[in-house]
Amino acid sequence: MKVITGSQEETEELGFKFGVFIKTQSIGAALLYGDLGAGKTTFIKGMASAFGIPPRDIGSASFVIVAEYDTTPRFYHIDLYRIEKSNEIEELGIWEYMDSGGFAVVEWAERLPEVPDNAVKVRINYCGADCREIVIEGVPEAPGGVRDCIIPEN
Ligand code: ADP
Ligand code: MG
Repeated sequence: MKVITGSQEETEELGFKFGVFIKTQSIGAALLYGDLGAGKTTFIKGMASAFGIPPRDIGSASFVIVAEYDTTPRFYHIDLYRIEKSNEIEELGIWEYMDSGGFAVVEWAERLPEVPDNAVKVRINYCGADCREIVIEGVPEAPGGVRDCIIPEN
C-alpha cells in the first residue's frame, strides 16, 4: 500500500500506526529503504513510540549500529548507514536480531546482501519539500490487515 505524508508529524504518526500493527501481528522485522533525509529515522521514532520508547531516544547519528531497547517485545534499531562490506553485516549477527522473538527495524536495508522474499519492507521516497511517498510491502492488506490499521490519507 502507498501513503503520502505532508509533514514530519504525519510521517511519525504513520510510523506509530505501523508500529501498532507490527506489534499486534507479532511481525519480527521490517526493512526500511530510502535516501538520506527521506524520513526513515522519523518513521522509526513513530514506530518506537508504539513500543513505549520516547521518540527522542531514537538516534540517527549512526555511531551506534544496533541500539537495543528493553521493551516487551524487545526493540532493535539497526542502522546500516556506516556499513561498507557485507561481511560486516554477518559479523553483526543481524539475522539473529531479526529472528529473536523481538522486533528489529533495519534502516538502510539497501546495504543487506540478500533479503527474504516475504520480508516486510517500507520504502520512503522524497516527492517534494512537504511530501513523502511511503510504500509498505509484504504485509496482509485484507480485512484486519495493514489497511485497517493505517487509514490512507490519499
Ligand atoms: P533519514 O533517516 O531517512 O535519513 P530523517 O528521518 O533523519 O531521514 O530526516 C527526514 C527529514 O524529513 C526530517 O527533517 C523530517 O522532518 C522530514 N520529513 C519527514 N516527512 C516529511 C514530510 N512528509 N514532509 C516534509 N518533511 C518531512
Ligand atoms: Mg536515518
